[in-house]
Amino acid sequence: RSIAVVLGTRPELVKLTELIRLLGPAAHVVHTGQHYDEELSGRFLSDLGIPEPTYLTGIGGRPRALQISAALAQLDAVFAAEPPRAVVVQGDTNAALSGALAANARAIPLVHVEAGLRSHDRNMPEEHNRVLIDRIADVLCAATPENRDNLLAEGIPAGRIEVTGNTVVEAVRSQLPTSAQRFAELERMGVASDAYVLATVHRPENTDDPLALRAVLTELASLAAELPVVLPLHPRTRACIEGAGLAGLLDPLLVTQPLGYRTFLALAQHAALLVSDSGGVQEEVTVLGRPLVVVRNSTERPEAMPDFAELVGPGRELGEAARRRLASGAEDRARLASLPSPFGDGLASRRVVELLVGLAARGSCAAVA
Ligand code: UDP
Repeated sequence: RSIAVVLGTRPELVKLTELIRLLGPAAHVVHTGQHYDEELSGRFLSDLGIPEPTYLTGIGGRPRALQISAALAQLDAVFAAEPPRAVVVQGDTNAALSGALAANARAIPLVHVEAGLRSHDRNMPEEHNRVLIDRIADVLCAATPENRDNLLAEGIPAGRIEVTGNTVVEAVRSQLPTSAQRFAELERMGVASDAYVLATVHRPENTDDPLALRAVLTELASLAAELPVVLPLHPRTRACIEGAGLAGLLDPLLVTQPLGYRTFLALAQHAALLVSDSGGVQEEVTVLGRPLVVVRNSTERPEAMPDFAELVGPGRELGEAARRRLASGAEDRARLASLPSPFGDGLASRRVVELLVGLAARGSCAAVA
């Protein structure tokens, strides 16, 4: 019997690629369609070499409760037709929560990759998803010792928790293009190594509040007077910018479609600075050795701070932090390049596969509870 890997968004595709590769024909990939845009999903599947998944339908673009309930109903039918030995979910998306609930409903052993992250920010739907998945998972793959401590503090038995590292480390290492390919990407974008800022913005706290969105874009536009700012624009951010009448603030920026993962890594590797509200980018900069300004109220990834990343609000604080970091330039980057990533050694996917093998040998959910 197969191992079902349930995913639905860009970061899950990135972080589960190596695990799916290691599982080989045993992996049954189920894609909920939470991200349904070609740039956030379709192209990623083929670029990353993920085998053709089973697709659920009618999920993406709907309110959270409907995404979760529709995915849960369809996953239950998939698991009934072909009962998997175990279900793997990653992170904190609606897709991951649906996969976890569907496994739980059929008493199928559930493995949570990237367990134990906590922002303690109850305004974030992701925080609720994480807590709920961790309560019902049979095997919790904590990325860091801090993540394990978060789980222990919530009373989750130590026997269910393994510190595996974060699978993003091997994703970055295996997908980072060669130096020649990276410089070709820089040339295509019209930027020079160490002489531009790479920015991403997509979290509701920055996009759904027009004041915050205006503040972020104003700061990026102001930075662009000093050095090029590349902004791959997430579809929902583009819609919010247009809705709020802020498209004019994009004029000074190098705006692109969302980039393929390898292109994004190439640009991240040579950026003088990154500015982002992404979760995954907070991890990736620690592997690439690049500085990051995180535009968010809170983070579930404090391990990247203070060396690699700094947390700021969307207004003047952003510009000030960015200029401070840019001023220390080459020296700062040399120091970061010498530091190990706090997110692991690049063997996390391998460890998760070993746990899956052990789990299958033990059999039922009750046996691992
Ligand atoms: N990413 C990408 N192309 C882009 C922007 C981001 O490949 O144009 C990657 C990025 O490197 C990271 C992932 O997408 O691996 C993060 O996805 P996102 O920010 O949507 O989600 P989060 O990590 O915040 O959950």
